[in-house]
Amino acid sequence: MGKYQTLVDEQRKFFLSNQTKSYNYRVEQLNKLEKAIKKFSSLIDDAMMKDLNKPKSEVEIFETGFALNYLSYVRENLKDWMTVNVMDSSNIFPNSTSTIYSDPYGVMLIIAPYNYPIMLTMLPLIDAIMTGNTAIVKPSELAPETSKVIDNLISETFEKKYIALVEGGQEETTELLSERLDYIFFTGSPRVAKIIMGEASKNLTPITLELGGKSPAIVIKDTNINEAAKKILWSKLINSGQTCVATDYILVDTEIKKELIKELEKEIINFYGKDPITSTDYCKTVNKKSFDRLKDLLDKSNGTVIFGGEFNEKELKISPTIVENVDWSDSLMSQELFGPIIPIIDFNGNMLDEQVIKPLNDNEKPLALYLYTNDEEVQKKVISQVSFGGGVINGAIAHALNLEMPFAGVGNSGLGQYHGKFSFDEFTHKKSVLNLPSDTSFEPFYPPYK
Ligand code: NAD
Repeated sequence: MGKYQTLVDEQRKFFLSNQTKSYNYRVEQLNKLEKAIKKFSSLIDDAMMKDLNKPKSEVEIFETGFALNYLSYVRENLKDWMTVNVMDSSNIFPNSTSTIYSDPYGVMLIIAPYNYPIMLTMLPLIDAIMTGNTAIVKPSELAPETSKVIDNLISETFEKKYIALVEGGQEETTELLSERLDYIFFTGSPRVAKIIMGEASKNLTPITLELGGKSPAIVIKDTNINEAAKKILWSKLINSGQTCVATDYILVDTEIKKELIKELEKEIINFYGKDPITSTDYCKTVNKKSFDRLKDLLDKSNGTVIFGGEFNEKELKISPTIVENVDWSDSLMSQELFGPIIPIIDFNGNMLDEQVIKPLNDNEKPLALYLYTNDEEVQKKVISQVSFGGGVINGAIAHALNLEMPFAGVGNSGLGQYHGKFSFDEFTHKKSVLNLPSDTSFEPFYPPYK
């Protein structure tokens, strides 16, 4: 018997008792979770300072605040989303009704990464509750203090047969995946996602994969360069680059490269002062392994470091580092950076097809793409010719904050989508039921055929 079989069995039994399915139950549980997040918010702040040196305002905007805001949005819309859809089928059977039911799957496993440990456990948990599923939450072992707080928050608020938390890493996740689950929601790296998908395939368990990748910022010469520089830096440097939708690298028209670099340098100092490593607003890299990985990638790069390049091993902090003269085959382009290194590749503005669109399509599909231009022709071209998860024109990250839109990667950056109504549809099975009066005849279908 697997280590977590009893837990999964108990959750399935509770799910089959049908209690989780009513609108009132779902709202009551959302209210409980809301109270708990508020109650634990200062403990969350402290834990995240220890795990990632994450400043309180970043926790408020992207973690606790985002989760609470999401919860209110979901609660406000839930009744509407739960209304069953009655479809017309009078053309096939005049006295019939056709109904699409949104059926919860059952026991849902939520596996989260370390970088936004509250947002990326709470959003899918809110989704599990609002869709009438039960949930087992597995936070990341790489943010251990936050994982402990989430454990307390969940065990104090819910019974294990409804919502449970399992702390741990690869070993515990592997054990959980060996159980027969009804849905797996995974946020993390494409490397681990392949393992998750392999395990899910054994029981044909439906999955959502929210992954990462190399998200470019493309800067066209007509844009407002100072605005572009600030938004690129913000998206790159919050959480010290450890954001799935961070700008990974910059593609800039050669004609404005110097000016953009000047603005980037100026704005880094405006954001974090002359010595960013000492700034209390600047996060650290999660662990020595990731710190060494980034150092190694920079050491192997053929580009030129023109700003930053400091590595403080004691504090695991890397200063914002701009690297010029990078090409597509550089070490810095070999993997998602997930750190504060900013490679710059320049291109000839008359060769967008060859020097931007083609190499983007030759590489893995990014999670996000940020295009800086007011030129509508260029906007249309890039959007229609490059495949990517989602993006912003003249900005970064903000598409993920609009709860009316799905959040999703594509190919190597993800499978499926979530947020709001898209979560509601993702975590419920659409069960189509045709209802006929008992005396309806199927005569025309039967043999012998005429
Ligand atoms: P990760 O893939 O290393 O770990 C994610 C989860 O998988 C953790 O809970 C971990 O315990 C578990 N895990 C690790 N190895 C495993 C194994 N061999 N078998 C089973 N489970 C295993 O990711 P990470 O380093 O925590 O996070 C960074 C990655 O997540 C980046 O690629 C980033 O882009 C991505 N990410 C994506 C999103 C998104 O919404 N698309 C959000 C945040 C992070």
